[in-house]
Amino acid sequence: MEDTIFGKISRGEIPVEKVYEDEFVVAIQDLAPQAPVHILVIPKKPLRNVLALQPEDRELAGAVLLACGEVARKMGLEASGVRIVLNAEGDAGQTVFHLHAHVLGGRRLGTMG
Ligand code: AMP
Repeated sequence: MEDTIFGKISRGEIPVEKVYEDEFVVAIQDLAPQAPVHILVIPKKPLRNVLALQPEDRELAGAVLLACGEVARKMGLEASGVRIVLNAEGDAGQTVFHLHAHVLGGRRLGTMG
């Protein structure tokens, strides 16, 4: 897989403020937030997107979801709600080809699509 900006961020090669970090993921503010809370949860393992996940990535996939919940609680979204988005490839509008989950909240979000 080609290296991306998220690869560099997840390896600590580009200094960014981390909202959350554990063994599997790092979470950062999105550069162009689409909501009052817009955090990206980025696995440290380079994977293109959710379509590239393999059975051996089960633990990592779980860790991404757990981190999304942790980040949402940390950002105070427990009562108001949260949307988790995973874009993969062209029709979904993926622009950075390193798996990442968007954690969105802080306003009433529109319908999907
Ligand atoms: P996606 O369309 O799912 O690939 O989303 C990529 C997201 O990464 C977009 O919401 C961008 O605003 C965000 N983004 C791109 N570069 C950076 C960066 N250097 N730091 C933080 N967010 C970024």
